[in-house]
Amino acid sequence: MARIYNFSPGPAMLPNEVMEQARDEMLNWHNTGMSVMEMSHRGKQYTEIAEESEADFRELLSIPSNYKVLFLQGGAASQFAMVPMNLLRGKKKADYLCTGHWSEKAIAEGQKFCEVNVVANTKSTKFTHIPAQQDWNLDSEEAAYFHYTPNETIAGVEFHWIPEIGSVPLAVDMSSTLLSRPIDISKFGVIYAGAQKNIGCAGLTIIIIREDLMGQTLPGTPTMFDYQIHAKNNSMYNTPSTYPWYISSLIFKWLKRKGGLVAMAEINHKKAETLYGFIDSSSFYTNPVDPACRSWMNVPFILANSNLDEQFLHLAKQAGLSNLKGHRSVGGMRASIYNAMPQEGINALVDFMKEFERTKG
Ligand SMILES: *Cc1c(COP(=O)(O)O)cnc(C)c1O
Repeated sequence: MARIYNFSPGPAMLPNEVMEQARDEMLNWHNTGMSVMEMSHRGKQYTEIAEESEADFRELLSIPSNYKVLFLQGGAASQFAMVPMNLLRGKKKADYLCTGHWSEKAIAEGQKFCEVNVVANTKSTKFTHIPAQQDWNLDSEEAAYFHYTPNETIAGVEFHWIPEIGSVPLAVDMSSTLLSRPIDISKFGVIYAGAQKNIGCAGLTIIIIREDLMGQTLPGTPTMFDYQIHAKNNSMYNTPSTYPWYISSLIFKWLKRKGGLVAMAEINHKKAETLYGFIDSSSFYTNPVDPACRSWMNVPFILANSNLDEQFLHLAKQAGLSNLKGHRSVGGMRASIYNAMPQEGINALVDFMKEFERTKG
């Protein structure tokens, strides 16, 4: 079977070029006679991979020198705890915006460590929009940080702007959007992302943290949950996720070959426009999200007749378009179209949707 267009929300599709390189290097990396999987993380070869990957990552995102980059394990879910443990810094409160499923998870975990002030919650509208900042109930005097989710992977809601909260650091879960376009890192206190959506394979979690926010952890914080420990040890306090980190290092090189994040933003924007443009032009498919905050990465769409959902999925799979089933909380379909999904995959999906509508709609 040929490789399919995989619209999975995560773990997600990886670029063919990267997969082929990993295959070619699998048994014998750069003539060392070893696989990357078999190397000591403290050896010369792996240190080279780690250092070069960090340099590439910093270059891609233009990360200022007062930010550390950490390559950890534990997924975004462990960051829901690590953020309050590190960022409260003696304060007792934090502001959280709730725009979807992942915001809710971050809030529930945050509540174990501090008084969480939910500044706004869009659940009553099924997480289909982002409220204007003037309507948030911010507690800027006392909040240690402000947490939000720039891209909600399930409902497909994405910020196309950055909140301005004065000196309160922004803590953000960018699991499903980091590396999809350039961002101004200096606006954020801490950025975290699991790799399996847009950055590589499962097992790696990347954190970008402003240096001055480290070193004041909550009493009792486990060593493994202290950002500063990992920063001081170049993410090698213990054995890092060596192979997933290596896969991400190949992704960073691939992104650089593609022209970096400015080029990726253009490609990703066009992909999203193609798909939303078609959905909006059709009376059979709808996207429930406010057009001002539609995600470039995760595109939910509903069929006019939900009895056709199963058939849609079945025929799509036969056409080499897989994992389009929507999350149960939204229903219908969802196409996740991260960096690795080429424009050709979007075109194939749109052609399939057109034909399905023509013959079954
Ligand atoms: C997938 C996802 C998560 C969960 O990530 P894990 O690595 O499974 O912990 C958290 N937040 C967002 C926005 C996600 O898309």
